[in-house]
Amino acid sequence: MSDTEKWKKINKSKEERPKVQEYKNWKELSPIPISLPIDGSIGNTGDWRTFRPVINQEGCNKCGICWMYCPEGTIRKREDGSFEVDLIYCKGCGICAKECPTNNIEMVRESDIKK
Ligand code: SF4
Ligand code: SF4
Repeated sequence: MSDTEKWKKINKSKEERPKVQEYKNWKELSPIPISLPIDGSIGNTGDWRTFRPVINQEGCNKCGICWMYCPEGTIRKREDGSFEVDLIYCKGCGICAKECPTNNIEMVRESDIKK
């Protein structure tokens, strides 16, 4: 299905949408609009984070699941296909680490990281 057709599908009125939608895997999900991270009223979210996600690049299979699940849109794809976290805006929720299928993201306490 082309991107245009996917957009048409999700732009249907509520009545037209199927009550249950089944997907074989996450690649079939319709594209959704996301907002990019910006400064909050009390500063960058990274300022008050307790845990920091650390991606082990060697074991990463570049599946993009962490990127897809991050609720803040702070995981970026590099040119080589690997992923990195924008620590200015990451809030340290740990969802990426929980969802990584290869257990390749470690949540490390900020106070344990050498400055
Ligand atoms: S810890 Fe949370 S906010 Fe930070 S990169 Fe992972 S999913 Fe995104
Ligand atoms: S979810 Fe895990 S294996 Fe997949 S790209 Fe992210 S760090 Fe790599």
